[in-house]
Amino acid sequence: MTGPPLTDAFARKITYLRVSVTDRCDFRCTYCMAEDTQFLPRRDVLSLEELDRLASAFIGLGVTKLRLTGGEPLVRRDVMTLFRSLARHRISGALHDLTLTTNGAQLARFATELADCGVARVNVSLDSLRADRFAAITRRGDLGQVLAGIKAAKAAGLQVKINTVALKGGNEDELFDLIGWAGDEGHDLSFIEVMPLGEALGPDRLGQFWALSDLRARLAARFTLEDLAETTGGPARYTRLRETGQKIGFITPLSHNFCASCNRVRVSATGTLYPCLGQAGKIDLRQPLRASETDAPLIAAIRHGLAHKPQAHDFLYSETGVSGQVARQMNRTGG
Ligand code: SAM
Ligand code: SF4
Repeated sequence: MTGPPLTDAFARKITYLRVSVTDRCDFRCTYCMAEDTQFLPRRDVLSLEELDRLASAFIGLGVTKLRLTGGEPLVRRDVMTLFRSLARHRISGALHDLTLTTNGAQLARFATELADCGVARVNVSLDSLRADRFAAITRRGDLGQVLAGIKAAKAAGLQVKINTVALKGGNEDELFDLIGWAGDEGHDLSFIEVMPLGEALGPDRLGQFWALSDLRARLAARFTLEDLAETTGGPARYTRLRETGQKIGFITPLSHNFCASCNRVRVSATGTLYPCLGQAGKIDLRQPLRASETDAPLIAAIRHGLAHKPQAHDFLYSETGVSGQVARQMNRTGG
C-alpha cells in the first residue's frame, strides 16, 4: 500500500471506487440524458492507460472494490484492454471485487471475456420487460438484445444483479412481473429511486418520482418482508421475500441515512474526483496524472480530495421542487 489507507475528514475508510470510463452511451434513458446530449471532446477523456494508472493508484491506497461504469462502459473502444490489465490486481489479491454497471446491450459480446478477467458479478440496468416500454424509456434500447446479454452473462458464470429505476406511471404496473422474472432467472433485484440529476431534470422528473417507501408497502401487501442487516456502505438496504426467498434491494440515494457509513468515491471519465454524489465538490486528478510520470502528485491530489469529502449530501425533495440538485448527469459522474 502507498502510505496509510485512504480515509476522509470524518474517519470513513474509502474502499470502493467507481470510475466512469466514458460519458458516451448507446441508449438515451429519459431520466439520465437528453436526446441530443453533447458528449465530451475525446481529448478531455482519460485514455485507457490513464484510467488504469488512476484506478491502480486508488488500489494502492486501499481500495478493494472497483466498479467501471459510464455512460455505457462496454461502448468504450477497447475497454477489454482495461479489464484485462486490471485483472492483475485481482490476481495479486489487492482487489477483491472488479465489476461493472452496464445497460446489457453489449454483454453477449463480452461476457466470457469479462469472466476471464476475474469479474464475478455484473449489475445490469433494466426498467421494463415490455419491449415497447423499454424502447420508450431508453429511447434506443432493444429489450431482446439486453435479455440475450443477461443470458450470456449468466451462461459465462457471472452473477447478475438487476437494477430497476422506479418510475411512477412508468413501470409501477410491472413491479410483480419484474420480481417474478428475476426470481425465475435467479437474479437479485434492486430498485433505485429516481434522482434529480443534470439536464434530464425537469417537471417530468418530479412527476416520475416514486418513493420506494410506497413501492415497499405494495410489496408488503403481497409478501412477508424480512429486512436484512447487511449493507454495502452505500444507499442500498435489503429485504428478503419470505415466500420466494428472493433478496430485494432498495436504493434511496436521496435519503441521508447512509452518509455516515459511506465508503465510496467516484471519478469521472475526465479524471474528476467527486467525493460525494450529491454535492458539487470536485477535484481534478487529470492534471496531476498528466503532469508527471510518477504517481506522487496524483496520490497527493487524491488524499487532498478525500480530506474534503463532505459529511452528507444536500438532496432534498419537497412538494414544490428539488433543492440541492446537482447540475451534472449520471453519465458524467458514473451512476
Ligand atoms: N449505462 C450503464 C447503465 O445504465 O447501467 C451504467 C451507467 S448508468 C448512469 C448507472 C445507473 O444509474 C443505472 O442503473 C441507471 O438506471 C441509473 N440512473 C441514471 N440516471 C438516474 C437518475 N436520474 N436517477 C436514478 N438512477 C439513475
Ligand atoms: Fe446510458 Fe446508463 Fe444513462 Fe441509460 S442510464 S442513458 S444506459 S448511461
